[in-house]
Amino acid sequence: MTLKERYNGVIDYFKTHVPVAETELHYTNPYELIVAVILSAQCTDKRINQVTPKLFRDYPTVEALASASSETIFQYIRSVSYPNNKAKHLVNMANMLLKDFNGIVPSEREDLVKLPGVGRKTANVVASVIYDKPTMAVDTHVFRVSNRIGLTKAKTPLQSETQLVKYIPEQYIATAHHWLILHGRYICLARTPKCEVCPLTKWCQYFQKNGLKSKINLTMKKVTVTKKTTTKVVENKTTTMKKAKPVVSATAIKKITATPQKAKFKPHATSLQVGDKAPAFKAKDQFGEVVSLAGLKGKQVVLYFYPKDNTPGCTLEACSLRDEYQFLNKKNFVVVGVSADDEKSHQKFSDKFQLPFSLLADTDKKIIQDYDVFGKKQFMGRVFDGVIRTTFVINEKGVISHIIQDVKTKEHGKQILALSK
Ligand code: SF4
Repeated sequence: MTLKERYNGVIDYFKTHVPVAETELHYTNPYELIVAVILSAQCTDKRINQVTPKLFRDYPTVEALASASSETIFQYIRSVSYPNNKAKHLVNMANMLLKDFNGIVPSEREDLVKLPGVGRKTANVVASVIYDKPTMAVDTHVFRVSNRIGLTKAKTPLQSETQLVKYIPEQYIATAHHWLILHGRYICLARTPKCEVCPLTKWCQYFQKNGLKSKINLTMKKVTVTKKTTTKVVENKTTTMKKAKPVVSATAIKKITATPQKAKFKPHATSLQVGDKAPAFKAKDQFGEVVSLAGLKGKQVVLYFYPKDNTPGCTLEACSLRDEYQFLNKKNFVVVGVSADDEKSHQKFSDKFQLPFSLLADTDKKIIQDYDVFGKKQFMGRVFDGVIRTTFVINEKGVISHIIQDVKTKEHGKQILALSK
């Protein structure tokens, strides 16, 4: 397998099966993200998410953090790793942001790394997550997983970054960072990679070399020990059996190699039903225009909820609706997208992909809640809360005529058009 084939296989897998991949740190603006990322060095995201709500409540802005003392901030973050240093970094970082960057988190890596507590990895995270730059932050998971699969042959994070950036298409670099992290966090674990349930075995060098050998060998030893007595008896009966290697039973191998049978996870589904009156909505779109259901009376409204601007699945979905837009219009459909992203993010997304329809900024998730599309979903074996990709078609009378939960992102436009045949 060539390196290119390996990259293509892995990227295709993630693109199809993990279209949405994002940071697990909680934040609502660039200031909060940079603070959270600084805190997350050598610490788990889970721990950081436990301390930041209180910190952001009491220090909601760069100015507020700059005016604090590191001793005070220490009290908020004492349960994270290196709290002393991090408290100093945060206060100094906020002061430098005010002094040199007008209080705005810069978008260029060269500027970001000037900030106290911000190294190349943190700068890459901020640049990609906030500013959608094609930068690859290499942490311990990205480093390990890329090397194991054979995407990289790296001895340092910088080598890993350089090699990944060289081969991953630019539009996937930011998301690939999250794909690799999450894969390392939940499947390709540092000590015992869960190869038996890993979907990447076909492209993984580590697996090609080791397979499930180590685990099987382990079981062979156990089988030998537990059958010691029996083996001796057999040996006394026939010398030819002496040299016979212990055989792992078919059941033992099956146990090791079989994918665990877990109960099938069912993601949250809206409680609204076809025939229900569609909940009213009103919000600003990417152009600052107020869009409401009442204002679209007489049209068939395609109200589609998606997790996040600019992520692969949401981009495919938006572009598919864009490509069928004129045909949808001819059939009296008007398309309106909804996510929890803000107007600025929608504007960037819309400009980048020339989207001809409104994207509503539902930052307080009011519409999302009213349409009951926020709930448990599964990603890389992990269950968490998020926006469930769902499309409602609302007829001219304001009644829900269709609910699409099985959204085919690549051909969503055609999926809607098929409804009117
Ligand atoms: S096959 Fe194993 S080593 Fe390779 S990526 Fe998957 S879990 Fe990691």
